[in-house]
Amino acid sequence: LDNCLFCNIVARKIPAKIVYEDENTIAFNDINPQAPTHFLVIPKKHISGLNDLNDENLINMMHLSKTANQLTKQEEIAESGYRWVINSGKDGGQTVFHLHLHLLGGRNLNWPPG
Ligand code: AMP
Ligand code: ZN
Repeated sequence: LDNCLFCNIVARKIPAKIVYEDENTIAFNDINPQAPTHFLVIPKKHISGLNDLNDENLINMMHLSKTANQLTKQEEIAESGYRWVINSGKDGGQTVFHLHLHLLGGRNLNWPPG
């Protein structure tokens, strides 16, 4: 989508520090990192968020999982631990309406989240 921030990062129209890319996914540094490792892992295909997952596009969640796992190994946080976060809607704190998985690690993460 032309007016979608993350579609524009996929299209290289808006710059980002891209750390991984394959045919289905792209991962880049969050512009406002909340931990030493804070990547956003997104499907290249535009999906607005968790509510828009369906039988046809659910495969993208598998792609996100695979990419996120590769990144934890690359960052060497697979053993120390990390967190996946997907915010949804107003109460969930979603601000960008293109599905994205936050991959956070490199420090002890508080629980419960705010
Ligand atoms: P959410 O609140 O879950 O929708 O997450 C959106 C995330 O996108 C936030 O953590 C922002 O810091 C991040 N963000 C916003 N704009 C950019 C950008 N241009 N490049 C990288 N990350 C961004
Ligand atoms: Zn998009």
